[in-house]
Amino acid sequence: MQVKILGSAAGGGFPQWNCACANCHALRGGQFTGKPRLQTQVAVSGDGRSWFLLGASPDLRLQIESVPELHPRAGNRCSPISGVVLGSADLDHVLGLLLLRELQPFHVWAAAPVIEILRGQNSMFAMLNRVDDQVRWNTIRAGEPFHLKSIAGSDSQICCRTIALSSRYPAYSGNRAGTRTNFEAVLGLVLPSPTGKTLGFFPQLPMLTPELKGLFATLDCLLLDGTFWSDDELIRLQGSGQRAHEMGHIPVGGEEGTLRQLAGLTKPRKMYIHINNTNPMLNEAGAEYRQVRDSGWELAEDGCQLSL
Ligand SMILES: [Zn+2]
Repeated sequence: MQVKILGSAAGGGFPQWNCACANCHALRGGQFTGKPRLQTQVAVSGDGRSWFLLGASPDLRLQIESVPELHPRAGNRCSPISGVVLGSADLDHVLGLLLLRELQPFHVWAAAPVIEILRGQNSMFAMLNRVDDQVRWNTIRAGEPFHLKSIAGSDSQICCRTIALSSRYPAYSGNRAGTRTNFEAVLGLVLPSPTGKTLGFFPQLPMLTPELKGLFATLDCLLLDGTFWSDDELIRLQGSGQRAHEMGHIPVGGEEGTLRQLAGLTKPRKMYIHINNTNPMLNEAGAEYRQVRDSGWELAEDGCQLSL
């Protein structure tokens, strides 16, 4: 299985258009030891021909153009992108779907409440079904594996499993967490490759249970929520706002951070992804970056490729 990381930032990217935090300011001024990042996007393929997107980032058009494997190959309208797996209805995870509206047939796999939010509550997504032969929506259930297939039916040999992580739906959907009891608002994705190796994609980690720790220990590569370094990161910056855990993210640093909680995790290649522009570990000259690297973790970078 080929894995391409096309974006590694949280919503807003790095730098973020309206942000002059220390990181964004230094990056714009050419004074930053670190890399700019597009919003988180991963693509996987079992055969190198048919590709599947994990989420659909608002930067998707640029991300597709940056990778020749994702370009159309014949003279007519066509795309090697066969489908999109949605782990949530978060805007930075679904807005890219609207950039795929040019009457192209492809699959979307998502939990029923996520499909309902997109198709039932947001009329713009009807652009994906203007004609009969366009997007095919497939309902997935947490824990039930499904095969990634092309629209013509050929199997990619990649079987995707989903892990229910949260009942908290995005703010734009009316904060319906209270009315929805299932935990399919945020799904982690586990993808075993045809060779038996396994990728875990958890760009949003609201909780870390013993079961999840056990699952992570079996993976060959883990792409994990690196949104915030500290729980009060945005509050310290802005003077107000939400804590990381209130936004559904366990921070990287600190006593309760994933770096410490997953210190015993040895098997997988461990990479932080979905990194917010305010996160001090983006600064490769800083102590936080050094702590991450000394702990055996990497920061996912745009353009990074893995083979599993
Ligand atoms: Zn910033």
